[in-house]
Amino acid sequence: MLIKSSGDKVRRQNSTLVLSALRRQDALSHTDLAELTGLASATVTAITAELEQIGAIERHEPQAAASRGRPRVLLSRKGSFAYAMSVQISSDNVRYALSDYRGTLMDRFDEPRVLAATPSSFSEDFARALLRLADRSKLDSATVAVLSVSSKGIVDAEGAHVVWSPVFGNQPVDLNAALSAFPNADLMVSNETRLVAHGLASRIGGEGADFRGLIALSLGHSIGLGIARTNAVGGLEVNAPNFGHMLNASDNKLCRCGSRGCVEASAGFYGILRTAFEVPPDTIPARFVPLAEMDRIALTARQGNRMAQYAFRQAGLALGQGLSRVFSLYETLPVIITGPGTRYYDLLARGLDEGLQTCLQVRLDGMPKIDMANDEASLVYEGHLDRALKAIDQQLVTGAP
Ligand SMILES: [Zn+2]
Repeated sequence: MLIKSSGDKVRRQNSTLVLSALRRQDALSHTDLAELTGLASATVTAITAELEQIGAIERHEPQAAASRGRPRVLLSRKGSFAYAMSVQISSDNVRYALSDYRGTLMDRFDEPRVLAATPSSFSEDFARALLRLADRSKLDSATVAVLSVSSKGIVDAEGAHVVWSPVFGNQPVDLNAALSAFPNADLMVSNETRLVAHGLASRIGGEGADFRGLIALSLGHSIGLGIARTNAVGGLEVNAPNFGHMLNASDNKLCRCGSRGCVEASAGFYGILRTAFEVPPDTIPARFVPLAEMDRIALTARQGNRMAQYAFRQAGLALGQGLSRVFSLYETLPVIITGPGTRYYDLLARGLDEGLQTCLQVRLDGMPKIDMANDEASLVYEGHLDRALKAIDQQLVTGAP
């Protein structure tokens, strides 16, 4: 489905502009498209004609002229041109979703995570669920262009597999096996908070001129961080440094990854629980702390329990110190906090401020703007979708994923 004049660099760039405008807006007239992309009308005509010919976009003829003047023909992406599957792997659940090329969510279901699963039984369940997703929509498996998978943990630079995850540790999870049923699908694996940052950035028009960047900080059993910034050519660049397992302090607190002193060992739910109950810091962390348990600790903290208050303050401190290091390496950026830990922000805030204020960068730039976003799962989905559609467009224009 490569567009024909792909050898021409200018033409490729122009096609990319048209496709990204049609990704951000559901439907556009020829005039709006020319205005948004800054391209000449004739260029827009040539590119849209070609995209229409290969079936990537379609035109919507107006109903009988309601007003005088030339009727407005609208152009949009054609939903059935390609499909993207996205899979959100969390600690207790796996969410499968199917979207069309127009960005419409077509189907979605959740499967509970089997806690005793091995990497190979997980891969089998995963492959079965993807077939079910395609079957439920009676989809031709050849039309699935992207399979986008997210997990907490560390993803390799190529984005093809999970290097380390909170649930399987260093054991590799083979996601490629499931691809055999979808011959044209490219596999993309992302750290979950990377997608949260991506989703947040695309919500606020991340490729617009006045967007500088943002940091997404996800609080829960694990701690994730995603950074979305505008690159030199005005595109969106998103990455997820290994924040949760960055060394924070030589405090002997044992982390789930096996190291000591990681940010997560203080600020992850199990770290907070361990401090609140005065359990020795080198105790092997709980595999999963139910939210109800965390709520109970938070309640006692709000009622004045000193140790519980101290546990949240230490967690906030580790987060504030960690963020101040990120600001020193990049620049001070607005922070949006997501994840189940947002409900304890009142208890974390004091330590967080303390951790931030010790840093020269913050004293020079001023405190960052901090906001909350309570719909993390939707943000992950939006990140999946935008990233997948962008990859389909890129393949369309350059022939390379
Ligand atoms: Zn760690």
